[in-house]
Amino acid sequence: MHFIKEEKNQIVYYTVPEISEAGFYNIFTTKFHGHSFEDGQLNFGTNCNDSESAILENYKDVLSLMKLTPKDAVKSKQTHSDITIFADSSYGGEGILKEQRFQEADGLITNEKNLAILIFFADCVPVLIADKKKKIIAAIHSGWKGTYKNIVGKAVCQLITDFHCNPEDLLCAIGPCISVCHFEVSEELFSDMTALYGEDIGKIEDGKYYLDLKKTVKKQLLQHNIQSSQIVISDQCTVCNSDLYSYRREGEKAGRMAAFIAIKE
Ligand SMILES: [Zn+2]
Repeated sequence: MHFIKEEKNQIVYYTVPEISEAGFYNIFTTKFHGHSFEDGQLNFGTNCNDSESAILENYKDVLSLMKLTPKDAVKSKQTHSDITIFADSSYGGEGILKEQRFQEADGLITNEKNLAILIFFADCVPVLIADKKKKIIAAIHSGWKGTYKNIVGKAVCQLITDFHCNPEDLLCAIGPCISVCHFEVSEELFSDMTALYGEDIGKIEDGKYYLDLKKTVKKQLLQHNIQSSQIVISDQCTVCNSDLYSYRREGEKAGRMAAFIAIKE
C-alpha cells in the first residue's frame, strides 16, 4: 500500500488508493484549500480563532468528495483517552452540527454506509482502519498519550472481539504526524515508551531523546496479527512540512487537519 497526494475541487489531501479500491473513502487533509483565515485554509480546529461558518464550509467541501454532507458525519471528542466508541447513523452530524452525545472518544468505529467518521489532528497520529470484507471502519486519534495507552491496539481488539473482524482483512493507514526527526521528548517519557514498545522506537542524538510514534503504532498493529503488508505509513512529518498544521511548529493557535473515512456505496 502507499499514500498519494491528490487534489480535487482545490482540496489537497493524502489518500491510500488501495483502501479506496477496497471500497472506502479515506482522506487526510492538508492546509489547502478551504474557507478559513485570511488566505482560505482548510482548518477543522475549533480553538484557533477560526469562524464556525468557515469550518462548516470546510466540512461541506471535504464531505462532498465522499458524496456526503455534514449531517452524515460524526466527529470524535478527543481527550487523549484510549476510548473508541461505535457510532451508528443516528450519530450523524454530532460534533459538527450539534454537540456529541458522548463525553469522550478518541476513536470511532462504524459499519454504516453514508456515515463518515473523523478525527482531527496536528502532530498527533491519525489512524484509519478498514475491514475490507466486513466493511467496518475505524478512525483513531493517537497522540503520544494515546499511543502510550495503546488506543490503536485497543481499537483493533474491539474490532476483533466485538465486530468479529479478521485481522488479515484490516487495512491500516498511519497518516502524517510529527515524525522521529522532530519528536523530542523527556528522558523519562523516552524510558517509559521504549520499555513498553522496544528500544527501536526511539533514538538518542546529541543527548536528546526522540520517539517514533508511527513505528510505535505500527508495532501495536503488528501485535494483533496484522501483517506489515496491510499497514501503510505516511512519510510526511507535520513539523517538516509547512503545508500541514503543527502544534509544535505553530503553537497553540495552530489549525487542525482532519482524517475522514467512509464506506462507499
Ligand atoms: Zn520532522
